[in-house]
Amino acid sequence: MIMMKALIFEKSGIENLKISDVKEPTLGPHDVLVKVKMAGVNPIDYFVVNFIPVTPMPHIPGAEIYGEVAKVGDHVKSVNIGDKVVVYNRVFDGKCDMCLQGMEQLCRNGGIISIITNGGFSEYFSVSEHNLVKVEGINDEIAASLPVAALTAYHALSTVQVFGKTVVVFGASGNTGQFAVQFAKMMGGYVIAVSNKNWVKEFGADEVVSYDKVEEKVKELTNGRMADIVINSVGSSVWDKSLSVLGLNGKLLFFGGITGSNVSLDLGAIYGKHASLIGTTGGNRKELVELASMAKKLKVKVWKVRKLEDGKEALQDLFNKNRDGRILIKIE
Ligand SMILES: [Zn+2]
Repeated sequence: MIMMKALIFEKSGIENLKISDVKEPTLGPHDVLVKVKMAGVNPIDYFVVNFIPVTPMPHIPGAEIYGEVAKVGDHVKSVNIGDKVVVYNRVFDGKCDMCLQGMEQLCRNGGIISIITNGGFSEYFSVSEHNLVKVEGINDEIAASLPVAALTAYHALSTVQVFGKTVVVFGASGNTGQFAVQFAKMMGGYVIAVSNKNWVKEFGADEVVSYDKVEEKVKELTNGRMADIVINSVGSSVWDKSLSVLGLNGKLLFFGGITGSNVSLDLGAIYGKHASLIGTTGGNRKELVELASMAKKLKVKVWKVRKLEDGKEALQDLFNKNRDGRILIKIE
């Protein structure tokens, strides 16, 4: 039996997360064994470890995975040993009406890798070849940011027309926010980042405004028209402000809820300006392929790179007030 190191928990709760030697995953004929090189740390991992019912148990978390093909099942044709790959993190059947419309993230018979399967906070990870997208010529930090952080932002923005529009991004220095800023700029938007980090300007923000002044600043910068598109990647803490900076016929895109997901709604404030509230989740496979091909143009702000052994601290650091960019786990 071949063993590997993994971060694993037998019972929900971050206090139960520990590094252990576990059995290396076995491969079906269409599966690929990926030697994980780097994994992104996201709020979903924290929720998986603490709250979300998961299978199997004991469980390995880790939703954002980048690595190298180490072994392939007998029928695998699309990748070879040594290829650098990122993992599309949804289980999907490719057959239901959602999959056939190119929305594998909504597969009626699917789910999220790291929730309904083990994740990738481990030396090796096994997955269907259909979940792999090859990457080349990019650094590990960018690669490990494509499957969740970049894809979520890219997909959300793909649901609206950005060109020529004013886009306000809340949580602009966060995991998804820093990519939302980059994509909104590339797509031709006028980007107002809500952040206290000035580096978001280097990521494409036309203006950086602080959270406490966001309403007056957006008003001033848009001559009272307010935003055409608002992105709330943070959750309930900025909900009221994200709605109040939204202009007529505006679209509010939201996903992720690190600060909570319960809000109260004033219906009149929404229909009165003909606003659309668009919740999005993840992205589809086609979008991950597009991201892999444009990844050389992307940047990522990394705060800390941790070892697998420090997984607990890496997850807790998501809530660190001094966090300034991404937390990644490097697996030697
Ligand atoms: Zn499906």
